[in-house]
Amino acid sequence: MRIKPKNPKLIKARRIAVGAVAACAVLTVLLANRGGDTLPDEDSAPLPEAAVASLSPEDAITGEIDWQYPEGWIDYSDLPPLESLGDESVQGLSNWRYLLVNGLDRSNYLRSNYYPEMTMVENNYYFQTRAAEDLTAFLAAARDAGYTVRISRTYLSYADQRTRFNGMASTLYDQGGMTLAEAEERITALGYFPGADEHQTGLAVNFEDGNGERKFSTPVLEWMTEHCAEYGFILRFPEGREAYTGHEAEPGHYRYVGQVAAEYIMRKGITLEEFKDAYDEEAGTVIVW
Ligand SMILES: [Zn+2]
Repeated sequence: MRIKPKNPKLIKARRIAVGAVAACAVLTVLLANRGGDTLPDEDSAPLPEAAVASLSPEDAITGEIDWQYPEGWIDYSDLPPLESLGDESVQGLSNWRYLLVNGLDRSNYLRSNYYPEMTMVENNYYFQTRAAEDLTAFLAAARDAGYTVRISRTYLSYADQRTRFNGMASTLYDQGGMTLAEAEERITALGYFPGADEHQTGLAVNFEDGNGERKFSTPVLEWMTEHCAEYGFILRFPEGREAYTGHEAEPGHYRYVGQVAAEYIMRKGITLEEFKDAYDEEAGTVIVW
């Protein structure tokens, strides 16, 4: 179940007077359990209707309910403040760190002219200049911890994606039974259209171990997943969240989002899509070229 949380800023400006009795009481219990000492507005934490409906207001008020989040529900009430998410000239979710690219939603792709300034990190692998130092530090930390880790991909150009797309479409076409246009449509539906690969951002990196192994259980990748947030990275396509990313689970693929978001995303076990969705549209617009 997915509950889309509300924008905390909007909530502050809007109090719900009716129908929030149970929610408010449950929230009070929750806050008491967490040791919180201030009581926020009634609906500053989103509550799933099903859970609220299963409690009578009287029960909740007595505080005797051992309230638990329903399976799959994520409590976003502790989202970092938007102001802490950005710096430089662009604040909040519009900051370059949160550029969202996926093949699931055609509005989240990059055009052919998206080419950020990049720096070579090692072995001819380029990364966005403003995040390159963090990538270098992340790699150094893994090596200091005794692991062998290699980069197997960073930036992937639009042109290379175009070539891959054409290759996939013609392979499908060659199998017969459809026109080339139909084959292209099929590949597009799979999310492989040019501009839909996150590697074009220059903020995504694939790691592998010294033997070229790249599994969730590969020891160095387990270490990197455990420590990535410290360097501003997230495991971008975790297992079990394919419905949110529109991408199959991919071990070894990490994405730079900066430390504030990375810490939150990794602690919650969520994805960049969910993190951005957790803020209201008004909070910021995703930059798409
Ligand atoms: Zn990748």
